[in-house]
Amino acid sequence: MGNPLGWLDDSLQELRDKKLYNNIRAIESPQGAWLTVDGRNVLNFCSNNYLGLANNPRLKQAAKDAIDKYGIGPAAVRTIAGTMSMHIELEKRLAAFKEAEAAIVFQSGFTSNLGTIPALVGPGDVIFSDALNHASIIDGCRLSRAENIRYDHISPESLKAQLQEKRSQFTKAIIITDGVFSMDGDIAPLPELAELAREYDCMMMVDDAHGEGVMGHGGRGIVHHFGLQGKIDVEVGTLSKAFGVVGGYIAGKANIVEWLRQRARPFLFSSALTVPDTAACLEAVHILEESEALTEKLWENTHYFKEKMQTLGFNTGKSVTPITPILLGAESLAQTFSQKLFAENVFAMAIAFPTVLMGTARIRVMISAAHSKEDLDFGVAAFTKIGKETGVLS
Ligand SMILES: *Cc1c(COP(=O)(O)O)cnc(C)c1O
Repeated sequence: MGNPLGWLDDSLQELRDKKLYNNIRAIESPQGAWLTVDGRNVLNFCSNNYLGLANNPRLKQAAKDAIDKYGIGPAAVRTIAGTMSMHIELEKRLAAFKEAEAAIVFQSGFTSNLGTIPALVGPGDVIFSDALNHASIIDGCRLSRAENIRYDHISPESLKAQLQEKRSQFTKAIIITDGVFSMDGDIAPLPELAELAREYDCMMMVDDAHGEGVMGHGGRGIVHHFGLQGKIDVEVGTLSKAFGVVGGYIAGKANIVEWLRQRARPFLFSSALTVPDTAACLEAVHILEESEALTEKLWENTHYFKEKMQTLGFNTGKSVTPITPILLGAESLAQTFSQKLFAENVFAMAIAFPTVLMGTARIRVMISAAHSKEDLDFGVAAFTKIGKETGVLS
């Protein structure tokens, strides 16, 4: 008799042998500057909780009040009975915050990409995609069955060459890029990309998951950072990172949003964002609209940490955002470094091949407004100690 599941044990073992197996740690405390992990209190350098909103009292209260009033689940997809007035309000507030004509909310940033790309392009169309775009963009492109052409990472020259050669062979076209790239903390050259989109008759889409709440005035994102409001057709946002909750959205031209309400499959075939999530997201938008204090603190922390690390002699690569890679090189060195940091009560992820190029392994430090100067000093001291121990610092 055959064993149809036999391949699994072999494949799992192969992951372990190649050191590609994900050992997933469970967090035993709320999100914040410090986390309880395996019963220990560790400094959190891993989360996308850029503004510290994930455990914010106002968000928690808004979620509780909404539960008392409206319950928990939406009990339907948005197009049947799952659209609550709160969803509509969130969409209006997000559009206003982003200075876009309209917005549509999805269950996550991931589903926003999966729903949007196939709704905009299909067979006979073409996608020009940055070589380092996020997995959800890559999957959305595959689902669309449009021709997918990669251009070199953040290279308008490479994109232009591809457009010149291939654009005319297809009907519709879209250029898609991450705004902030999550592994290096570098950013897309949006003005140049938008100009090429105009020149070659392409739609322009940017996924601002790591720019939301971070870049631009008061965290309005990378489009705002470059002053390109109204010039980018589709902005993907996440509510799961700086906004501290979970969810995703598209902001852009009213007709695009209207089309997505008719055609985006996760909107049509998967239930709506829950009541507490929606209420907490609304409160997060209110907080961002009221004050720039959190984004300012985030940037102050980012500059403080980066400057200290660079002065010590660490290489922080091309980062211009709170995502701070500490480049180490060898895959095994990054793994060892991360384990030694954890022993010093600093929780920071090693990122290695195949997530990044071979030989560019690093520790990725995620800075948050939730960190105090003392927290950052504690982290820097641990990096200094392990840096000397491992010979990274002389
Ligand atoms: C994190 C991320 C997503 C996914 O967002 P979720 O809301 O967590 O699903 C999508 N795109 C990019 C670029 C991301 O970094």
